Amino acid sequence: MKVRVRFAPSPTGPLHIGGARSALFNFLYARKMGGEFIVRFEDTDLERSRPEFEQEIIESLEWLGLSWDEGVKVGGPHEPYRQTERLDTYRERAEQLLATGWAYPCFCTEAELEEERNELLRRGEMPRYLGRCRHLSPEERRVKLADGIKPTIRFQVPRGRVYVVEDLVRGNVAFESDNVGDFIIMKSDGIPTYNFAVVVDDSLMGVTHVIRAEEHLSNTPRQLMLYEALGITPPQFAHVSLILGQDRQKMSKRHGATSVIQYRQRGYLPEALVNFLALLGWAPEGEEEILSLEEMIQAFSLDRVAKNPAVFDMDKLNWMNQQYLKGKSVTELKELLRPYIEEAGYSQWITSLGEARYELLVEAVRDYLVCLADIGEYLGVFASDLAIDVEAAEILQESGVIQVLELCRDRLPGPFPELEESKKFLKSLVKEAKLPAKKVYMPLRAALTGHTRGPELPYLISIWGREECRKRLNVALGWAKG
Ligand code: GLU
Repeated sequence: MKVRVRFAPSPTGPLHIGGARSALFNFLYARKMGGEFIVRFEDTDLERSRPEFEQEIIESLEWLGLSWDEGVKVGGPHEPYRQTERLDTYRERAEQLLATGWAYPCFCTEAELEEERNELLRRGEMPRYLGRCRHLSPEERRVKLADGIKPTIRFQVPRGRVYVVEDLVRGNVAFESDNVGDFIIMKSDGIPTYNFAVVVDDSLMGVTHVIRAEEHLSNTPRQLMLYEALGITPPQFAHVSLILGQDRQKMSKRHGATSVIQYRQRGYLPEALVNFLALLGWAPEGEEEILSLEEMIQAFSLDRVAKNPAVFDMDKLNWMNQQYLKGKSVTELKELLRPYIEEAGYSQWITSLGEARYELLVEAVRDYLVCLADIGEYLGVFASDLAIDVEAAEILQESGVIQVLELCRDRLPGPFPELEESKKFLKSLVKEAKLPAKKVYMPLRAALTGHTRGPELPYLISIWGREECRKRLNVALGWAKG
């Protein structure tokens, strides 16, 4: 049997880290098993679902490189792949359950349900529907319908049963049906609830494995009941553990960026994020942590997915992104950086540099970048007027500094020396000043950049060129002379 898996996001927000990881695990499993990966929108929450979020989710999946074989955007044999466009299908299945006695119309009002809930809570019992409308006679139902009351449809939960979820990650998890009240499968407005729609769709779409977040484990017994009632063999389930922040609390906005789009905006590379997400709850054999998508596919298996929660380690993600950035050529980085340069407001300045010096700039800063958006900070140093920080100021006050700066100003090659020329020039400067190299380079750096750390000096000289360097040296000299 061909493996068919699906990612079924609700378009009620952007794609979150947790959702992206579910999508990734489904993708990896499908590719590994030579199966098919479906993407379906579960948009039955009419209040919170938005087309913009659908678009964002699609873009995030595409950006991550997780392609799907069937579903929204790409189509397929089970169209449509958006639940609000499948209402007739759910209606038919609900009719089937009504006809076979597995479901019944419920006429209870909100107020009645609220009262029941409160009563159960008062008695210290779990709030659930006790089945008031279960045993209405056909006549009673007819009268209520004639009164114009629109019923919900409830599933009649079998009493005294134990439902066992045979989970591929968590092992067997048993649930007693008596803890589950008869639950609504269709609301009075004809919209199915999650548990019902998911079962109808997964079965009609031939889904063989449901890989999703642990938070849905408690829904699974309801889904097993529905499969039983519809006479369909359920798929296999694999519930993947929660993602926690470093404080071991469920990952939330407090922990920083939670959506894929935010990581994209910060300039994390999709390869790095995918690699990082894969290791949140899954471990390949062996020590290697940097894995290409192809390697992950080869190595992926559900029995190496961990039961215990995964901790989101920002330092590790940063490290991983740097590893992937190191793997990029200067030419690739030049293109990758452009949108971030634009965002930081330095496009024009970069254009004024010309391609060759832009390339030098990329070479100069690449090892300092944790993510692409960091380029803004470095461009700040290159493109703004000189501003001397405290540490640089101290250096500029040391004795002999003025002579070094003046010598440099007078000897600078120009107008735009090649990198090799700048390197040679700096060496000759050290010789002529008859000082230890550090005594030349530190004041020069302080004077040119206003800081004590940053890109290497030859790059600075080649990128700025003689005039800009002279200007900066003069400003620093003015300052040093008081
Ligand atoms: N729409 C559900 C969600 O976004 C999908 C759950 C499932 O995969 O069954 O959480």
